[in-house]
Amino acid sequence: MQELTHYIDGAHVKGTSGRFADVFNPATGEVQAKVPLANAEEMDRAVQIALKAQPAWAATNPQRRARVMMKFVDLLHRDMDKLAEALSREHGKTLPDAAGDVQRGLEVVEYCIGAPQLLKGEFTDGAGPGIDMYSMRQPLGVSAGITPFNFPAMIPMWMFAPAIVCGNAFILKPSERDPSVPLMLAELIEEAGLPKGILQVVNGDKEAVDAILDHDVIQSVGFVGSTPIAEYIYGRGCSNGKRVQCFGGAKNHMIIMPDADMDQAADALIGAGYGAAGERCMAISVAVPVGEKTADALIEKLIPRIDALKVGPYTGGKDVDYGPVVTAAAKANILRLVETGVEQGAKLVVDGRDFSLQGYEDGFFVGPHLFDRVTKDMDIYKHEIFGPVLSVVRANDYEEALGLAMDHEMGNGTAIFTRDGDAARDFANRVNVGMIGVNVPIPVPLAYHTFGGWKKSVFGDLNQHGPDAFKFYTRTKTVTARWPSGIKQGGEFNFKPMD
Ligand code: NAD
Repeated sequence: MQELTHYIDGAHVKGTSGRFADVFNPATGEVQAKVPLANAEEMDRAVQIALKAQPAWAATNPQRRARVMMKFVDLLHRDMDKLAEALSREHGKTLPDAAGDVQRGLEVVEYCIGAPQLLKGEFTDGAGPGIDMYSMRQPLGVSAGITPFNFPAMIPMWMFAPAIVCGNAFILKPSERDPSVPLMLAELIEEAGLPKGILQVVNGDKEAVDAILDHDVIQSVGFVGSTPIAEYIYGRGCSNGKRVQCFGGAKNHMIIMPDADMDQAADALIGAGYGAAGERCMAISVAVPVGEKTADALIEKLIPRIDALKVGPYTGGKDVDYGPVVTAAAKANILRLVETGVEQGAKLVVDGRDFSLQGYEDGFFVGPHLFDRVTKDMDIYKHEIFGPVLSVVRANDYEEALGLAMDHEMGNGTAIFTRDGDAARDFANRVNVGMIGVNVPIPVPLAYHTFGGWKKSVFGDLNQHGPDAFKFYTRTKTVTARWPSGIKQGGEFNFKPMD
């Protein structure tokens, strides 16, 4: 059995806590490795190393820091296939989807190459007689990130690339479900020239997370994962005086207007609802057709497309549409929620409950499900299912459809499919959700914009990547400087406006 490690001070280090978690191959159900779960002492060792390494890195000019990112991009391209394979093996997603996971992280690394420009401060020449005023952005020191299983390459890179290029040291606590790619990324960025101790990977569970939240040296914490844990981390991190941003769960609605191209809408729903087995925070899990005729037409188009979906292991080649879910517990939770949907009166139009794949009977595969006539009070509507289950909630008119998206406690992403510019514009302006698609089902903003939801999908003020990341990972310092030979007039005791 392979024993995974931490990555501390430029080396793979075995765990010493004596605690491990199983890492599965979700396609076969086999345990393929065990990952060490760090305790507070192991976390402290990494933090002390980061603390020592960070000042020299912060003093390295931004252009040189950016060059490490440039080289890192090259190495990510060089190792793309290797990274994608390792990712699929632990996560279960298809190889093209795994390469996409690396790619969307890589794009944020590319954005970080602009650090010399992005970190430039502000300067006011002659703010007063002989007085100049300038603001600079300085790194925080040691930052930490806690990441989910569903994007084990992208989300770590969304955090550590901006943190590091801003001059911080970073400690990554990846998901214990698929920790191999984060370890590979730490090695790769050192090959790109990053000094050791600046990016370290400490594997673990709640114990390691609490050690981060309570550590005096750690200045900021980024978290992506489920909403209850996001809320917990935000509360504990903030009360310990840290800068914290937490991104939580989702329940993304797609509104289908009567004038939408129904084939386009159905195709979009198939990819956004069932791609990656529904394990995306930007997956569409609720379809809201407006009007009974629209709903009937949509369902008629969805059924044959769902029937044609190919579910299989990542080794099955490019014909496979989606793979297994991440663990047996995730599968059990999805099937439990499906049962509640049936019990609470939703119509199960496509039933994937008996799905089994020959030769992979122990894998964590879940067949595709489609529910119709879902209502707001049902568990399958209220809770994030995070599986290949699409719910159709019929709305009588546009206002009712908009109201559904607005009243749900989650507000990560949403989309509208229509040919009517007025409806699309109204929707984008009024809906209280962070990322909006107009005839685009998964509106994940590109690296130079920012990513973040509203409502219970986020705790904190700044979004991920784009300009917000450079704000999150730096503090502003403002200097007021007077350069005569001395303060000729003597001391001043009152605030005064600059003359
Ligand atoms: P999770 O909340 O179970 O785990 C996320 C991280 O928190 C992991 O590193 C895990 O080790 C740690 N953790 C788990 N339980 C903890 C506890 N009790 N105390 C402290 N730390 C704990 O989430 P997951 O299952 O890995 O990921 C799926 C979730 O992430 C979904 O809800 C999905 O919507 C969400 N997600 C959100 C975004 C976003 O940007 N909003 C992006 C991706 C995933």
